[in-house]
Amino acid sequence: MSLQVNDRMLWPKGKRKAFTLSYDDGITQDKRLIELLNKYGVKATFNLNSGLFGQSGAVSAGKKEVSHIKLREEEIAVLYKGHEMAAHGQYHKCMAGMDIAGCVEEILESRKALERIEGRPVTGFAYAFGAYDEVVLKALEAAGIAYARTIDATHKLEIPQNFLIWNPTCHHDDEKIFELADEFLSDEFGSSLITPSKLFYVWGHSYEFDQCDNWGHMEEFISKMAGHDDVWYATNGEIREYVEAYRRLLYSAEGKTVYNPSAIPVYLGGIFTKEYMEVLPGQSGELVPPHIL
Ligand SMILES: [Zn+2]
Repeated sequence: MSLQVNDRMLWPKGKRKAFTLSYDDGITQDKRLIELLNKYGVKATFNLNSGLFGQSGAVSAGKKEVSHIKLREEEIAVLYKGHEMAAHGQYHKCMAGMDIAGCVEEILESRKALERIEGRPVTGFAYAFGAYDEVVLKALEAAGIAYARTIDATHKLEIPQNFLIWNPTCHHDDEKIFELADEFLSDEFGSSLITPSKLFYVWGHSYEFDQCDNWGHMEEFISKMAGHDDVWYATNGEIREYVEAYRRLLYSAEGKTVYNPSAIPVYLGGIFTKEYMEVLPGQSGELVPPHIL
């Protein structure tokens, strides 16, 4: 592959950086997290267990015990406005090792309940306990899931090849998070030869900020990441939809024109040029010729 080509995916409006967050379990601490995100204009995806709405509990997981109270259904629609709701299983079951019928039910029932609240298709998912196997992957496809997040940190700023195994960049408590933020915010194009565009994806649970008493750490991180004109702040679903639109583009055999069959404007550019082109939905465009180095 030549690095001179100018048909590489850029984010909307020709941006080269995208930032997204993913938080699990739909618990009361999400309220404080959302206040923080809304203050800074950052978007997140929240992964909810529809069969556990309103359930009270506590969590320690080897750290300080804190409340783990699931939000009630009527709180959900209002709270997550402007963000994305995705499925996290009906009952937060560890699906690895389960039979396919059980997996499909766990996924589909959580989709149905969220769609009743949301009024549109919910096709995002986060694996409870980060657990999955081949059967779970088949069940996700059968149940119409478009993307699913794991808990395996890549420490990379890359776009996933397979959205059903979407490994995040890191957890919010990762010791490398500020180093990765600097790498992301710099204008270096990163290590990918596939695209000059970078994706920074952070996940966690908002109760962990109570456990570790580190809400300040999150605010420091979010304030560093927020407010950059060259960053696209998006939900997980928006990122996946955009990348899929890019992947659906059709190129002429001569490589001079490109057609966008999707309903989303797609932006293309190269590693060695600041120029970019916009390919509107249902339209063709002339590709920017490569610069010969
Ligand atoms: Zn969970």
